[in-house]
Amino acid sequence: MEAVGAAAAAAYALHLFTDVFEPAVEGRLDPARYTPLTLVEREALTADTARLRFRVGRPRRPGAAEQAADAVVAQGAWAVDVKDHLVQTFRTYTPVGWEPGGPGGPGCIDLVVKRYAGGSVSRFLHGTRVGDQVEVRGPILTWPYAAGRYRRLFMVAGGTGAAPMVQLAERILGDPADTATRISLLYGAQTPADLVFRGRLDALAARHAGRLDVAYVAERGAPAGQPLVQAGRPDAASVGALVRGFDAATDAVLVCGPEPMMAAVCGVRPVGVGRGQGPLRGALRDLGVEPASVFKF
Ligand SMILES: Cc1cc2nc3c(=O)[nH]c(=O)nc-3n(C[C@H](O)[C@H](O)[C@H](O)COP(=O)(O)OP(=O)(O)OC[C@H]3O[C@@H](n4cnc5c(N)ncnc54)[C@H](O)[C@@H]3O)c2cc1C
Repeated sequence: MEAVGAAAAAAYALHLFTDVFEPAVEGRLDPARYTPLTLVEREALTADTARLRFRVGRPRRPGAAEQAADAVVAQGAWAVDVKDHLVQTFRTYTPVGWEPGGPGGPGCIDLVVKRYAGGSVSRFLHGTRVGDQVEVRGPILTWPYAAGRYRRLFMVAGGTGAAPMVQLAERILGDPADTATRISLLYGAQTPADLVFRGRLDALAARHAGRLDVAYVAERGAPAGQPLVQAGRPDAASVGALVRGFDAATDAVLVCGPEPMMAAVCGVRPVGVGRGQGPLRGALRDLGVEPASVFKF
Protein backbone atom coordinates (compact mmCIF):
# COMPACT_ATOMS: atom_id res chain seq x y z
CA MET A 1 0.00 0.00 0.00
CA GLU A 2 2.81 2.34 0.97
CA ALA A 3 4.55 1.58 -2.30
CA VAL A 4 1.40 2.54 -4.27
CA GLY A 5 1.12 5.80 -2.30
CA ALA A 6 4.76 6.63 -2.91
CA ALA A 7 4.37 5.89 -6.62
CA ALA A 8 1.28 8.14 -6.82
CA ALA A 9 3.11 10.93 -4.97
CA ALA A 10 6.08 10.57 -7.31
CA ALA A 11 3.79 10.69 -10.35
CA TYR A 12 2.05 13.77 -8.96
CA ALA A 13 5.39 15.50 -8.37
CA LEU A 14 6.46 14.56 -11.90
CA HIS A 15 3.22 16.03 -13.22
CA LEU A 16 3.75 19.27 -11.29
CA PHE A 17 7.33 19.84 -12.24
CA THR A 18 7.58 18.39 -15.73
CA ASP A 19 5.46 18.24 -18.88
CA VAL A 20 5.48 14.43 -18.87
CA PHE A 21 1.67 14.04 -18.69
CA GLU A 22 0.85 17.07 -20.81
CA PRO A 23 -0.14 16.85 -24.45
CA ALA A 24 2.51 18.01 -26.91
CA VAL A 25 2.45 21.79 -27.43
CA GLU A 26 1.50 22.56 -30.99
CA GLY A 27 2.64 25.54 -32.99
CA ARG A 28 5.09 27.26 -30.69
CA LEU A 29 6.76 30.43 -31.92
CA ASP A 30 10.45 29.71 -32.29
CA PRO A 31 13.03 32.24 -33.55
CA ALA A 32 15.39 29.44 -34.59
CA ARG A 33 13.16 27.22 -36.73
CA TYR A 34 9.95 27.08 -38.71
CA THR A 35 7.01 25.56 -36.88
CA PRO A 36 3.50 24.95 -38.25
CA LEU A 37 0.90 27.38 -36.86
CA THR A 38 -2.82 26.74 -37.41
CA LEU A 39 -5.03 29.41 -38.95
CA VAL A 40 -7.94 29.82 -36.55
CA GLU A 41 -9.72 32.88 -37.94
CA ARG A 42 -9.71 35.05 -41.03
CA GLU A 43 -11.40 38.33 -41.81
CA ALA A 44 -11.49 40.17 -45.13
CA LEU A 45 -10.66 43.82 -44.48
CA THR A 46 -10.77 44.99 -48.12
CA ALA A 47 -10.89 43.25 -51.51
CA ASP A 48 -7.16 42.50 -51.30
CA THR A 49 -6.28 42.63 -47.58
CA ALA A 50 -7.15 40.13 -44.85
CA ARG A 51 -6.47 39.67 -41.16
CA LEU A 52 -5.25 36.14 -40.44
CA ARG A 53 -5.15 34.83 -36.88
CA PHE A 54 -2.82 31.94 -36.05
CA ARG A 55 -2.84 29.95 -32.83
CA VAL A 56 0.41 29.98 -30.83
CA GLY A 57 0.83 27.17 -28.34
CA ARG A 58 2.61 27.71 -25.08
CA PRO A 59 3.72 25.04 -22.61
CA ARG A 60 2.79 25.31 -18.95
CA ARG A 61 6.37 26.29 -18.16
CA PRO A 62 8.07 28.32 -20.89
CA GLY A 63 10.87 26.37 -22.53
CA ALA A 64 13.93 27.59 -24.40
CA ALA A 65 11.90 28.57 -27.48
CA GLU A 66 9.46 30.68 -25.43
CA GLN A 67 12.29 32.36 -23.53
CA ALA A 68 14.08 33.18 -26.78
CA ALA A 69 10.83 34.51 -28.31
CA ASP A 70 9.96 36.62 -25.25
CA ALA A 71 13.49 38.08 -25.26
CA VAL A 72 13.13 39.22 -28.88
CA VAL A 73 9.66 40.73 -28.33
CA ALA A 74 10.98 42.63 -25.29
CA GLN A 75 13.65 44.31 -27.43
CA GLY A 76 11.50 46.28 -29.85
CA ALA A 77 9.54 45.99 -33.08
CA TRP A 78 9.40 42.43 -34.35
CA ALA A 79 8.22 40.39 -37.28
CA VAL A 80 7.91 36.76 -38.38
CA ASP A 81 8.97 34.91 -41.51
CA VAL A 82 6.23 32.94 -43.26
CA LYS A 83 7.14 30.14 -45.64
CA ASP A 84 5.22 29.24 -48.74
CA HIS A 85 5.94 25.52 -48.53
CA LEU A 86 4.86 24.94 -52.11
CA VAL A 87 7.75 26.92 -53.57
CA GLN A 88 10.00 27.02 -50.49
CA THR A 89 10.28 30.77 -50.30
CA PHE A 90 9.55 33.07 -47.37
CA ARG A 91 8.47 36.66 -46.73
CA THR A 92 8.38 38.74 -43.56
CA TYR A 93 5.16 39.92 -41.86
CA THR A 94 4.49 42.05 -38.79
CA PRO A 95 2.10 40.70 -36.15
CA VAL A 96 -0.30 43.40 -35.00
CA GLY A 97 -1.91 41.32 -32.31
CA TRP A 98 0.14 39.22 -29.96
CA GLU A 99 -1.51 37.25 -27.22
CA PRO A 100 1.20 35.05 -25.76
CA GLY A 101 -1.38 32.91 -23.90
CA GLY A 102 -1.45 31.85 -20.29
CA PRO A 103 0.33 28.89 -18.75
CA GLY A 104 -0.40 26.03 -21.11
CA GLY A 105 -3.16 27.99 -22.85
CA PRO A 106 -3.03 28.97 -26.48
CA GLY A 107 -2.19 32.49 -27.59
CA CYS A 108 -2.35 33.93 -31.08
CA ILE A 109 -0.77 36.28 -33.59
CA ASP A 110 -2.67 38.37 -36.13
CA LEU A 111 -1.14 39.15 -39.51
CA VAL A 112 -2.68 41.74 -41.82
CA VAL A 113 -1.65 40.71 -45.31
CA LYS A 114 -2.16 42.41 -48.65
CA ARG A 115 -2.48 40.11 -51.65
CA TYR A 116 -0.32 41.03 -54.66
CA ALA A 117 -1.58 39.79 -58.05
CA GLY A 118 1.79 38.30 -59.04
CA GLY A 119 2.98 37.72 -55.48
CA SER A 120 4.18 34.44 -54.06
CA VAL A 121 3.69 34.28 -50.29
CA SER A 122 0.84 36.84 -50.04
CA ARG A 123 -1.22 34.83 -52.55
CA PHE A 124 -0.35 31.61 -50.71
CA LEU A 125 -1.53 33.14 -47.40
CA HIS A 126 -4.73 34.43 -48.96
CA GLY A 127 -5.40 30.93 -50.22
CA THR A 128 -5.31 29.38 -46.74
CA ARG A 129 -8.50 28.31 -44.96
CA VAL A 130 -9.30 28.02 -41.26
CA GLY A 131 -7.66 24.83 -40.00
CA ASP A 132 -4.74 25.02 -42.45
CA GLN A 133 -1.21 25.10 -41.14
CA VAL A 134 1.47 27.55 -42.21
CA GLU A 135 5.19 27.42 -41.43
CA VAL A 136 6.24 30.43 -39.33
CA ARG A 137 9.62 31.39 -37.85
CA GLY A 138 10.12 34.18 -35.33
CA PRO A 139 10.01 36.56 -33.64
CA ILE A 140 12.71 38.50 -35.50
CA LEU A 141 13.81 41.87 -34.15
CA THR A 142 13.33 44.55 -36.81
CA TRP A 143 13.91 47.78 -34.85
CA PRO A 144 15.32 47.91 -31.32
CA TYR A 145 13.34 50.06 -28.94
CA ALA A 146 13.67 50.76 -25.22
CA ALA A 147 11.09 52.59 -23.10
CA GLY A 148 11.82 56.33 -22.90
CA ARG A 149 14.60 56.15 -25.50
CA TYR A 150 12.99 58.84 -27.72
CA ARG A 151 11.12 62.07 -27.09
CA ARG A 152 9.22 61.83 -30.37
CA LEU A 153 8.75 59.19 -33.02
CA PHE A 154 7.71 60.33 -36.47
CA MET A 155 6.23 57.56 -38.61
CA VAL A 156 5.39 57.42 -42.31
CA ALA A 157 3.40 54.39 -43.49
CA GLY A 158 1.67 53.24 -46.65
CA GLY A 159 -0.95 50.48 -46.89
CA THR A 160 -0.16 47.39 -44.80
CA GLY A 161 3.18 49.11 -44.08
CA ALA A 162 1.32 50.62 -41.12
CA ALA A 163 1.56 47.23 -39.33
CA PRO A 164 4.92 47.88 -37.58
CA MET A 165 3.73 51.37 -36.61
CA VAL A 166 0.56 49.96 -35.03
CA GLN A 167 2.58 47.28 -33.22
CA LEU A 168 5.00 49.90 -31.85
CA ALA A 169 2.34 52.48 -30.95
CA GLU A 170 0.30 49.92 -29.02
CA ARG A 171 3.39 48.73 -27.22
CA ILE A 172 4.72 52.19 -26.32
CA LEU A 173 1.40 53.70 -25.25
CA GLY A 174 0.48 50.58 -23.27
CA ASP A 175 3.77 50.50 -21.38
CA PRO A 176 3.55 52.05 -17.90
CA ALA A 177 7.34 52.54 -18.01
CA ASP A 178 7.03 54.67 -21.16
CA THR A 179 5.09 57.76 -20.15
CA ALA A 180 6.39 60.59 -22.31
CA THR A 181 7.21 59.37 -25.84
CA ARG A 182 5.00 61.12 -28.40
CA ILE A 183 4.14 59.56 -31.74
CA SER A 184 3.11 61.33 -34.94
CA LEU A 185 2.03 59.09 -37.83
CA LEU A 186 1.37 59.96 -41.46
CA TYR A 187 -0.63 57.04 -42.88
CA GLY A 188 -1.45 56.82 -46.56
CA ALA A 189 -3.41 54.38 -48.70
CA GLN A 190 -5.07 54.27 -52.10
CA THR A 191 -8.60 55.00 -50.80
CA PRO A 192 -10.01 55.79 -47.33
CA ALA A 193 -11.34 52.20 -47.17
CA ASP A 194 -7.77 50.91 -47.57
CA LEU A 195 -6.72 52.62 -44.32
CA VAL A 196 -7.37 49.29 -42.59
CA PHE A 197 -5.80 50.26 -39.25
CA ARG A 198 -7.72 53.53 -38.95
CA GLY A 199 -10.30 52.36 -36.38
CA ARG A 200 -7.61 50.84 -34.22
CA LEU A 201 -5.41 53.94 -34.42
CA ASP A 202 -8.28 56.34 -33.71
CA ALA A 203 -9.21 54.32 -30.61
CA LEU A 204 -5.59 54.32 -29.46
CA ALA A 205 -5.26 58.09 -30.02
CA ALA A 206 -8.47 58.70 -28.06
CA ARG A 207 -7.21 56.58 -25.16
CA HIS A 208 -3.85 58.38 -25.11
CA ALA A 209 -4.78 61.98 -25.88
CA GLY A 210 -1.78 64.15 -26.71
CA ARG A 211 0.60 61.23 -27.22
CA LEU A 212 -0.50 59.90 -30.61
CA ASP A 213 -1.65 61.94 -33.57
CA VAL A 214 -2.40 60.44 -36.95
CA ALA A 215 -2.77 62.25 -40.28
CA TYR A 216 -4.53 60.16 -42.93
CA VAL A 217 -4.06 60.64 -46.67
CA ALA A 218 -5.71 58.77 -49.56
CA GLU A 219 -4.78 58.96 -53.23
CA ARG A 220 -8.39 58.74 -54.39
CA GLY A 221 -11.85 58.90 -52.93
CA ALA A 222 -11.17 61.27 -50.05
CA PRO A 223 -14.36 63.36 -50.00
CA ALA A 224 -13.66 67.05 -50.62
CA GLY A 225 -13.80 69.08 -47.42
CA GLN A 226 -13.56 65.96 -45.28
CA PRO A 227 -10.93 66.90 -42.72
CA LEU A 228 -10.18 63.41 -41.40
CA VAL A 229 -8.66 61.97 -44.58
CA GLN A 230 -6.85 64.41 -46.85
CA ALA A 231 -6.45 63.76 -50.57
CA GLY A 232 -2.82 62.94 -51.39
CA ARG A 233 0.05 60.67 -50.51
CA PRO A 234 3.12 60.83 -48.29
CA ASP A 235 5.22 63.35 -50.24
CA ALA A 236 7.61 66.24 -49.62
CA ALA A 237 4.80 68.52 -48.35
CA SER A 238 3.05 66.05 -46.03
CA VAL A 239 6.31 64.56 -44.73
CA GLY A 240 7.69 68.07 -44.18
CA ALA A 241 4.61 68.97 -42.12
CA LEU A 242 4.96 65.71 -40.14
CA VAL A 243 8.59 66.12 -39.07
CA ARG A 244 8.37 69.79 -38.14
CA GLY A 245 10.34 70.23 -34.92
CA PHE A 246 12.41 67.09 -35.52
CA ASP A 247 15.48 66.96 -33.27
CA ALA A 248 18.18 64.40 -34.09
CA ALA A 249 19.27 64.25 -30.46
CA THR A 250 15.94 62.97 -29.18
CA ASP A 251 13.80 61.81 -32.11
CA ALA A 252 13.62 59.14 -34.81
CA VAL A 253 11.76 58.73 -38.10
CA LEU A 254 10.37 55.31 -39.12
CA VAL A 255 9.19 54.52 -42.64
CA CYS A 256 7.38 51.48 -44.05
CA GLY A 257 5.39 51.09 -47.23
CA PRO A 258 5.38 50.12 -50.89
CA GLU A 259 8.43 50.80 -53.03
CA PRO A 260 7.20 54.00 -54.74
CA MET A 261 6.39 55.52 -51.34
CA MET A 262 9.77 54.50 -49.91
CA ALA A 263 11.52 56.01 -52.96
CA ALA A 264 9.68 59.31 -52.50
CA VAL A 265 10.08 59.53 -48.73
CA CYS A 266 13.49 58.03 -47.85
CA GLY A 267 14.85 55.83 -50.69
CA VAL A 268 14.20 52.10 -50.92
CA ARG A 269 15.86 49.69 -48.55
CA PRO A 270 18.15 47.23 -50.36
CA VAL A 271 16.64 43.73 -50.51
CA GLY A 272 18.40 40.88 -48.72
CA VAL A 273 19.74 39.99 -45.33
CA GLY A 274 22.67 42.14 -44.22
CA ARG A 275 22.20 44.70 -46.99
CA GLY A 276 21.61 47.49 -44.47
CA GLN A 277 19.41 50.53 -44.89
CA GLY A 278 20.81 51.99 -48.11
CA PRO A 279 21.43 55.73 -48.53
CA LEU A 280 18.84 58.24 -47.36
CA ARG A 281 17.10 59.85 -50.33
CA GLY A 282 13.80 61.51 -51.14
CA ALA A 283 11.86 63.95 -48.99
CA LEU A 284 13.64 63.19 -45.71
CA ARG A 285 17.07 63.83 -47.23
CA ASP A 286 15.83 67.04 -48.83
CA LEU A 287 14.47 68.15 -45.46
CA GLY A 288 17.92 67.66 -43.92
CA VAL A 289 16.99 64.82 -41.57
CA GLU A 290 20.10 62.92 -40.43
CA PRO A 291 20.36 59.46 -42.08
CA ALA A 292 21.17 57.86 -38.72
CA SER A 293 17.80 59.05 -37.36
CA VAL A 294 15.79 57.28 -40.08
CA PHE A 295 14.82 53.61 -40.06
CA LYS A 296 13.35 51.86 -43.12
CA PHE A 297 11.41 48.68 -42.29
C1 LIG B 1 10.00 43.82 -42.00
C2 LIG B 1 8.86 43.62 -42.98
C3 LIG B 1 7.56 43.52 -42.49
C4 LIG B 1 6.48 43.32 -43.38
N1 LIG B 1 5.22 43.24 -42.86
C5 LIG B 1 4.16 43.06 -43.71
C6 LIG B 1 2.81 42.98 -43.20
O1 LIG B 1 2.56 43.03 -42.00
N2 LIG B 1 1.81 42.82 -44.11
C7 LIG B 1 2.03 42.75 -45.47
O2 LIG B 1 1.05 42.61 -46.25
N3 LIG B 1 3.30 42.81 -45.97
C8 LIG B 1 4.35 42.96 -45.13
N4 LIG B 1 5.63 43.00 -45.63
C9 LIG B 1 5.83 42.75 -47.09
C10 LIG B 1 5.92 41.22 -47.34
O3 LIG B 1 7.09 40.71 -46.71
C11 LIG B 1 6.00 40.82 -48.82
O4 LIG B 1 7.02 41.57 -49.43
C12 LIG B 1 4.70 41.02 -49.58
O5 LIG B 1 3.65 40.26 -48.96
C13 LIG B 1 4.85 40.54 -51.04
O6 LIG B 1 5.30 39.22 -51.02
P1 LIG B 1 4.87 38.19 -52.16
O7 LIG B 1 5.71 36.97 -51.98
O8 LIG B 1 3.40 37.99 -52.18
O9 LIG B 1 5.19 38.97 -53.46
P2 LIG B 1 6.53 38.87 -54.35
O10 LIG B 1 6.54 37.56 -55.04
O11 LIG B 1 7.70 39.24 -53.52
O12 LIG B 1 6.16 40.02 -55.37
C14 LIG B 1 5.97 41.38 -54.91
C15 LIG B 1 5.47 42.24 -56.06
O13 LIG B 1 6.39 42.17 -57.12
C16 LIG B 1 5.72 41.71 -58.29
N5 LIG B 1 6.62 40.79 -58.96
C17 LIG B 1 6.96 39.55 -58.57
N6 LIG B 1 7.82 39.02 -59.44
C18 LIG B 1 8.02 39.95 -60.42
C19 LIG B 1 8.80 40.02 -61.59
N7 LIG B 1 9.58 38.99 -61.98
N8 LIG B 1 8.75 41.14 -62.34
C20 LIG B 1 7.99 42.18 -61.97
N9 LIG B 1 7.23 42.18 -60.86
C21 LIG B 1 7.24 41.08 -60.11
C22 LIG B 1 4.49 41.02 -57.83
O14 LIG B 1 3.45 41.06 -58.79
C23 LIG B 1 4.13 41.80 -56.64
O15 LIG B 1 3.39 42.93 -57.00
C24 LIG B 1 6.71 43.22 -44.77
C25 LIG B 1 8.03 43.30 -45.26
C26 LIG B 1 9.08 43.51 -44.38
C27 LIG B 1 10.49 43.59 -44.92
